[in-house]
Amino acid sequence: MRGSVKAEITPMFKQYFEVKHQYPDAVLFFRLGDFYEMFFEDAETVAPLLGLVLTKREAGKGLTAPMCGVPVEKALFYIQKLVDLGFKVAICEQVEDPATSKGLVKREVVKIYTPGLMVDLELPEKSKTYLASLYLDKKAGLAFLELSCGEFIFTEVNRETFLSELLKREPREILCLEEFAESEWISLIKGSLPKVHLSFLDKRAFGLTQVEDLLKLPYYERYQEGLKAANAILVYLQNYQPHLLDKIEAPVFYYPEEFLFLDEATKRNLELVKNLWDGSEKYSLFWVLDATVTPMGARLLKEWIIYPLRDINQIKLRQEAVSFLVEKPDLRDALREVLKKLPDLERLSTKCSLRLINPKEMALLRDSLKYLPEIKEIFSEIDQLPRLLRDILSQLGEFTGLYQRLCEVLVENPPYTLKDGGIIKRGIDPTLDELRDLKDHAVDYLSAIERKEREKTGIPNLRIGYNRVFGYYFEVSKGNVRLVPPYFERKQTLTNVERFVTPELKELEQKIITAEEKIKNLEYELFLGLREEVAQYKEDLKRTSLGLATLDVLVSLAKVAVENDYVCPEITEEEGLYIEEGRHPVIEKIQGKERFIPNSVELKKDEAVLLVITGPNMGGKSTYLRQTALIVIMAQMGSFVPAKYARLGVFDKVFTRIGAGDELARGKSTFMVEMSECAYILKNATSKSLVVLDEVGRGTSTYDGMSIAWAIAENLYEKKVFTLLATHYFELTELGKIYTGIKNYHVAVKEWQDDIIFMYKVLPGAANKSHGIEVAKLAGIPQEVVDRAKEILYKLERKNLKEPSETKIASKRVTQLSIFDREHPVLQKIRNLNIEEITPVEALNFLWEIKKEL
Ligand code: ADP
Repeated sequence: MRGSVKAEITPMFKQYFEVKHQYPDAVLFFRLGDFYEMFFEDAETVAPLLGLVLTKREAGKGLTAPMCGVPVEKALFYIQKLVDLGFKVAICEQVEDPATSKGLVKREVVKIYTPGLMVDLELPEKSKTYLASLYLDKKAGLAFLELSCGEFIFTEVNRETFLSELLKREPREILCLEEFAESEWISLIKGSLPKVHLSFLDKRAFGLTQVEDLLKLPYYERYQEGLKAANAILVYLQNYQPHLLDKIEAPVFYYPEEFLFLDEATKRNLELVKNLWDGSEKYSLFWVLDATVTPMGARLLKEWIIYPLRDINQIKLRQEAVSFLVEKPDLRDALREVLKKLPDLERLSTKCSLRLINPKEMALLRDSLKYLPEIKEIFSEIDQLPRLLRDILSQLGEFTGLYQRLCEVLVENPPYTLKDGGIIKRGIDPTLDELRDLKDHAVDYLSAIERKEREKTGIPNLRIGYNRVFGYYFEVSKGNVRLVPPYFERKQTLTNVERFVTPELKELEQKIITAEEKIKNLEYELFLGLREEVAQYKEDLKRTSLGLATLDVLVSLAKVAVENDYVCPEITEEEGLYIEEGRHPVIEKIQGKERFIPNSVELKKDEAVLLVITGPNMGGKSTYLRQTALIVIMAQMGSFVPAKYARLGVFDKVFTRIGAGDELARGKSTFMVEMSECAYILKNATSKSLVVLDEVGRGTSTYDGMSIAWAIAENLYEKKVFTLLATHYFELTELGKIYTGIKNYHVAVKEWQDDIIFMYKVLPGAANKSHGIEVAKLAGIPQEVVDRAKEILYKLERKNLKEPSETKIASKRVTQLSIFDREHPVLQKIRNLNIEEITPVEALNFLWEIKKEL
C-alpha cells in the first residue's frame, strides 16, 4: 500500500492491516459482529473456492476493499474446506465486549488452523492426522503430534531411514528448518504426499527451551535431535494455538527398532492401509482385517499394520489373545455388541483434556461410561483369561463416581453450543434454579404484583402492560388517576390512560430481562467447571480408551481369522519361514477363496535363502511374492495368517521393490526410482530381513537390467538376506546352479494348442519359455499381430544361433556375469562342428569334452 492512501484508511482497516501484517501466510477471518470477513487478496482467493459472493467495502478515502464473509456459526465448515485445501486460517476475534468498549473494539488473532492443527474440525474417523517435525543433524530427529488423540511422540533414526519413518504416518503437515527448503528430499516428500503442507521455521524453533520445560527428565538429554524436532512442534503450537500449549502432555520417545521395519515404499507397494489406484482403503490389507467397531479400534489396527512387532514374546501375547477369541464366538459377539455402542472415547477424552469438549460430546462421553461395566461383566464368568486380555481388563477404569456426577449435572440431550444454555440440570446450583424460576414464572410474579397493587390502591381495572420503549408499567384509566398513590411514578400519558412504574416493578423487570442472559452465562460457567472436573480423569480415560481399542482390534482379528479360515502361525526363534499353502489375503477375498490357488514357500538359512521365480507375465509371480510379505507382516502383528500351516522366524525388516505404476508422478524416471529403492535395500537389509524384488531392472535395456538384477541378487545372497526374486530374465536361473542357497521356482502354465492356461502353481525348477506372445494373445492383441510376432521371434532366435556374438552381454569387468561368458566357447564349438564329417566315437568324445567344460 502506498503511504498516501494508508493515511486515509478507516481506523477499522488500519486495525485490519496491523493484524494481517503479522500473519501474511494465513487467510485472515476478521470478526465483524456476527460474521468473519475476509478482505483484499484473501477475499479474492477464497471467494471462488468457497462459493462466496465477492462484494466490496469502503476502506477509506479512495480505497475499496474486495470482501467476502461467512456467518460465525457456520465458520467451522468453511475453515475445514480451506484447511483441507492446504490453507492456514487465522481467526481474529473481538476480544472486548462491543457493548462496553469505547471506540474501536480490540481484535486479536486467537488461533490459527493449519492442516496439522485442526483438532476441533471434523477429522477422518479411521485415520490419525499428524503434525510432524523433522530435525536433521548427525541423526534425524522426528516428532509427531496427533492433537485429537492426545498423542505426542518423538524418535531418532539414522539419516538414511528418516524419510520412511517420517512418511509412514502420512503427516498432513511437516515442520522443518528453512534451510532445507530446497533440499532434494523435499520433492520426494511432496511426491509421496501430494497434499502435505510444509512449513519452514527458523533455527530458533529447533532449540530445546520449550520441550525441556515440559519434560524435566534428565534421561532425555540423550535425544537431542529428537527433542529439537519436538521443540519445534511446541513453538508452532505456541504461535498458532496458544490456548492448547499448557494442556499438551510431554512427548514420549519411541524406539523404531522395537518394530518390524517397513519402509514407506513397502507400505505403499503392499497396499497395507490404502490401495495404489485411488488411495482409498478398499482392497488394502486393512480392508481385509478391519472388523473393528470403534473408531479408536480402527485407528489402532492401522497402527498395528504399519508397526508390526519384533519381540517374539509380545507377538505371542497377542496371538494367545486372538486364539482365545477365535475359540469363543459367543464371547466375540457379546463384546462387539457392547463395543459398537461406544463413541470415539479416545478423541472425546482428549478433547476434554484440551478443554475443547462441548456439552453434546460430554453427554456422549457420559453415555459411554455406562457400558464399561458391561464389558467386565462379560468376562466375569471366564476364569482362564490370556494375559493380554487380563491386562486390558485391568486397564479399564470404573468411573462410577464420574458417571453419576455427569448424570446428575448434565441434561439428557445438551446442545453443541456452550453459551446458549440448556446444559445443566435443576438442583445443581441454587442461583441457576432461582433464575430459571424467575424466567419460567415471570407471568405469575407480574400478576401477583398486579393483584397486590389493585387491592392496595382500590383501582379495579389496574393492569400491567408492556412495551418495548418503557418496559413493564401499570396502566390506569383517566377516571381512576386520582386513586394513584405517590410511589407510582408517571411514565406516559395517553388519551384515555396513564402509565406508571414502581420501584418494585422496575426491579422485577430488570430481573426478568437479565435472567435469560444470566442463565446462559451461569450454565456456561458451570459447564466449564464440570469440564475441569472431568479433565482430572484424563489419565484414566486415556488408558481405558486404549484398552478398549486393543480389545476391539483383537476381537476383529479373531473374527476375520475365523471367517477367512486363517491359521495361527507358529513363531520360532529360528530364522526363515515355512508357509504351507499360503494365500494372498486380499486377492482371495476379491476373487473368492475357492478360485485362489494356494502355494507353499520355504526360506531356510543356508539352503534356500534366495528364490528365483520365473514364469510368464500374469502367471502369479507377483501375487506369490506379495502374499509372502503380507503373511510375515500379519504374523508379526499377532494376527492369524491365510495358510494351511505357517512357521515363521521373526524378521527385522521387510523390503519390497515392486511395480512402478505411480512413480512417474513423483517426477523421477522409473528406472531411477527403482535403482534408488534397490540401493536403499542393499544398504539396509540384514540376514534377518525379507526382501521381495519383482522384476528388477525392467526400466532399462535388457542386458543392463539383467546384469544389475544378477548383481543385486548376488549381493543380497552374500549378505544372507532372505529374498524372493521374480524375473522374466531366464538367465538369472543360472544363479541357482551356482549357489547352493539359491533355488529356482517357476509358475506353472499349461500349453494347449496355441494358447496357454495359467495354473498359478509355484513349482521347483526354472521356467522353460517366456510365453510372452501367448500372453499378448490372451490380452486381445489381434491375431495378425500375434502371428507376425511369432515370425519375428522365430527369426530372432535363428539369428541368435547364427550370430552368437550378438548375444554376448555386458563387459568382462562385471565378474558376476562370468557365467554368460563361459557359455560361449562351448556354443562356439558346437556351432563349428561339422556333424556330417565326424564318427560316432568322435561325437561321443566331443560330448565328453564339452560336458567337462560346463
Ligand atoms: P505376474 O506377477 O506373474 O505378472 P500376478 O501375480 O500379477 O502375475 O498375477 C496376475 C493375476 O493372476 C492376479 O491379478 C490374479 O488375479 C491372478 N492370480 C495370481 N495368483 C493367483 C493364484 N495363486 N490363484 C488364483 N489367481 C491368481
